[in-house]
Amino acid sequence: MKTTFLRSVAAIALVGAATVSASASAQNYPTKTITMIVPFAAGGPTDTVARLVAQSMGNTLKQQIIIENVGGAGGTIGAARVAKASPDGYTLLLHHIGHSTAPALYRKLSYNALTDFEPVGLVTDVPMTLIAKKDFPAKDFKELLAYVKANKTKVTYANAGLGSASHLCGMLFQTAIGVDLTTVPYKGTGPAMNDMLGGQVDIMCDQTTNTTSQIKSGKVKVYGVTTKQRLASMPNVPTMNEAGLPGFEVSVWHGVYAPKGTPKPVVDALSNALRVALKDPTVKQRFADLGTEPVAENRARPEALRAHVKAEVDRWGPIITKAGQYAD
Ligand code: ASP
Repeated sequence: MKTTFLRSVAAIALVGAATVSASASAQNYPTKTITMIVPFAAGGPTDTVARLVAQSMGNTLKQQIIIENVGGAGGTIGAARVAKASPDGYTLLLHHIGHSTAPALYRKLSYNALTDFEPVGLVTDVPMTLIAKKDFPAKDFKELLAYVKANKTKVTYANAGLGSASHLCGMLFQTAIGVDLTTVPYKGTGPAMNDMLGGQVDIMCDQTTNTTSQIKSGKVKVYGVTTKQRLASMPNVPTMNEAGLPGFEVSVWHGVYAPKGTPKPVVDALSNALRVALKDPTVKQRFADLGTEPVAENRARPEALRAHVKAEVDRWGPIITKAGQYAD
């Protein structure tokens, strides 16, 4: 009886001590290097966004934020790593729209996209471009359509795996034109772009954060942008709508997350650093060069990202289920 009582007192004391030390460390946060996981390969569009934002957030937090690329399975391997990481603010995730499509696409997801993370804030909405290797035999969208309709599965289409933005855009494109192409999956569109530059893969729909410089230097061909309006960064490129696919619109939202249970003061410090980063002139200029811009300040907040993920999970679930696309 006495021992049990003493044990309970000791347990209560220990819990108390742990709580005190957790809040003390939350107040001192951060005291060491932070790791931001990008669930796609290095050198790709999400990696580019993450590196820009992490550098600036690190300046505000006075600790370095290093990027670790954990690519594969449309971003779900990297996201799973963060879901299981210690909730102390030293492991973060920067993911995109794929975070909201994964629950419907992957039957055996080891984490819950809605409840296993503490949202930090939205970052940017990145437009996409439909591109092809330099010597692809179609000079404009009309010729592209004629060519893919005539050659169908002989045409190869690169993407970053099921649920990646390039997969979603490719799915929309193939559905819109009623043609099935041969898909070539990569761990990210960074390596896919390398293969396209080498002429090994034909076409891809990828984010402007990866395609702008290759388009401008003429290393790939571009047929359309996926936004409602033309982009200031490439005013001569038609929208997909103008090019002949009415209503074809898609952009890729990005958000930052910490593991579930990360203390609120830590999430708030991260969210504040994110908002500072999105106002940083260097980040804004690089984003503009890459055809994108930071989200409005009220969206770079935990509540805004939480509501957005929920709305997107609800939006994509039925679309994916109807399309019958799944992975185990
Ligand atoms: N975001 C991916 C990457 O960084 C590409 C994609 O989702 O299509 O490689």
